[in-house]
Amino acid sequence: MWDARDRELGMDRRITRRDFLNGVAIGIGGLALGSSLTGCTRHGASDSNSNSNAAQDGAGYNPPAASAMRGDHDGSFEAAHGLRDGTFWQTSGAPTHTDATYDLIVVGAGISGLAAAHFFRKQAGANARILILDNHDDFGGHAQRKEFYAGKRLLLSYGAESIESPSLFSPESKGLMADVGIDPQKFYHYYDQNLYSSMKLGSGMFFDRETFGEDRLVAGFGAIPHQEFFAKAPLSDRARKDIVRVYTKKVDYLRGLTMEQKRAMLAKTSYADFLTKIAKCSPEVLPVFQTLSHDLFGVGIDAVSASALYEEGDDYGYGYPGLDAILGAGGDRGNHKPDPYIFHFPDGNASVARLLVRSLIPEAIPGHTMEDVVLAKADYSRLDESQSQARVRLSSTVVRVQHRGDPASAREVEVTYARNGRLYQVRGRRCVLACYNAMAPYLCRELPAKQKEALAYGVRAPLIYSHVAIRNWTSFHKLGVFQIAAPGSYHVYAAIDFPVSIGEYKFPSYPEDPMVVFMVRTPCQPGLSQREQHRVGRVELYDVSFETLERNIRDQLARMLGPGGFDPARDIEGITVGRWAHGYAYTCNPLFDPEFADEELPNVVGRKPFGRIAIANSDAGADAYMDVAIDQAYRAVQELAHYSS
Ligand SMILES: Cc1cc2nc3c(=O)[nH]c(=O)nc-3n(C[C@H](O)[C@H](O)[C@H](O)COP(=O)(O)OP(=O)(O)OC[C@H]3O[C@@H](n4cnc5c(N)ncnc54)[C@H](O)[C@@H]3O)c2cc1C
Repeated sequence: MWDARDRELGMDRRITRRDFLNGVAIGIGGLALGSSLTGCTRHGASDSNSNSNAAQDGAGYNPPAASAMRGDHDGSFEAAHGLRDGTFWQTSGAPTHTDATYDLIVVGAGISGLAAAHFFRKQAGANARILILDNHDDFGGHAQRKEFYAGKRLLLSYGAESIESPSLFSPESKGLMADVGIDPQKFYHYYDQNLYSSMKLGSGMFFDRETFGEDRLVAGFGAIPHQEFFAKAPLSDRARKDIVRVYTKKVDYLRGLTMEQKRAMLAKTSYADFLTKIAKCSPEVLPVFQTLSHDLFGVGIDAVSASALYEEGDDYGYGYPGLDAILGAGGDRGNHKPDPYIFHFPDGNASVARLLVRSLIPEAIPGHTMEDVVLAKADYSRLDESQSQARVRLSSTVVRVQHRGDPASAREVEVTYARNGRLYQVRGRRCVLACYNAMAPYLCRELPAKQKEALAYGVRAPLIYSHVAIRNWTSFHKLGVFQIAAPGSYHVYAAIDFPVSIGEYKFPSYPEDPMVVFMVRTPCQPGLSQREQHRVGRVELYDVSFETLERNIRDQLARMLGPGGFDPARDIEGITVGRWAHGYAYTCNPLFDPEFADEELPNVVGRKPFGRIAIANSDAGADAYMDVAIDQAYRAVQELAHYSS
């Protein structure tokens, strides 16, 4: 049971995190989701035999309100792991055939799968019959909505965070955004870019005692001179001097090399090696920077090349010093992004997923605008009705995708999925795999061996996005920070929410208001290749209990914010952990991967269409961005366009 420190941290307090059943919360905001697990009302007639106990049909079913372990929640991955381990078919019975045939079956209801349905319907017409299957209890994939009630107020939170650099989007991605009603320009009005600076809140760094010898939060990064900032940090004089030097002195450490030579060299040099071997910093500086790359790459600076960091930039503004004077201006998305980081719905890109679902199944999400979608209450019981042309079926893990006959001439694809412990089968004239690439070879045994190998190459990064509802944010206010990099801590970054108010949803802009704190952890193991680090991290992610995560969250917030008056036992009102075992799509890493010719890149070989099956999702574009997921959906749908029936 709880020891004294546990009680001090509030582990024994009732909050909205343990009141759950199989990962589904009960009792939040008057909802009784647990009961909906067995509930069933109006499932479609033609397939109703196959889904008579579907949770999504139950009254009050509302996965965003579930707390505790979300993301890849319990119940979402067991069938897939059985496939991976070769045990699934040993224990499964024969599938129940349904007589339904769809024009398109999409595997995966993430942004890419929903976008594929959108593009297909545009092309094939409103009468096209589309079925979208997903293993999670909610749609959106990584773009997962979270709802908290804190201080009797609804607070929204997110999985995939923001629409990144929309001015760089392809015409197809821009077109999809416009089709569903998103005008990125409006965020300039909805996002208060001055709120935190007007309150003199800035960036801090938390130095933890395990890594740096003592717990100390230093505020004012970027606002006060670096020399002053790092003088307050528990670091040696040598480390301070070196850090201040790389941040402030514009030195071209590779003077004499051409730009091409510099780029080639930095592509093969980790940022850790850049700091110590090229910029000649003491190794003592490394712990300060080690995890700054976690949020964007899922690994530390030992495993990310200096040039990749330069190109990708840093959304939070801590930067990767020392590179600008060498490479100058001109990164792709990164240091020189054309757009500010403000394109954020209160539930992140879940609003994009909800707008896509609204356009496919208007009855499921009432309303008409990008403003009213934020608070629109989704009616999950309308997602999968027999009379609808487009249907979204949740908690359904696809386990086999196979042509009916020779792939070269077959007219249908048979899709088998597991749901509620039973197997079902549906047929489609086309199928888009918008799940992650590594899953595809297990589903589609008939793919050519070379393609399967390519699909299995990339390893998605595992991530933990924790969200903590707190009673108020006076502690942040007192400490003068809205975000904290915590390079040695369990979660390496924590921040109060993005100040965005849309429609009727108002941002909690007074420190006395309840707030959601966002925290990131990306489990990994320095010293291994990026893909190996992701594999090791994934094991940790599945092994760690919610209780351990909760304790770590409470302990870290207490230590970082305690000097500002934060008391975890009193101030924490809810915790939701977004566990993403298959998170960011993998981009080849010049430190570890061979230099593939463009046409031999694993994502390019892997995404080739095969008969009536095409491959979408962000893995197919080898980049973890929403527009990539959309563009790949567009391509996949185009590849199937020549099948007229
Ligand atoms: C924590 C996190 C934060 C992110 N933040 C951002 C951000 O701020 N901005 C941004 O642009 N991008 C962000 N991304 C990247 C994000 O991956 C993409 O933007 C995009 O949402 C990916 O969509 P997708 O459809 O390709 O993949 P996913 O979202 O992974 O969707 C694929 C779906 O298919 C399902 N699936 C897999 N196998 C099966 C099966 N066998 N049967 C049925 N269903 C299956 C998966 O479980 C999943 O639900 C973030 C990613 C993560 C993990």
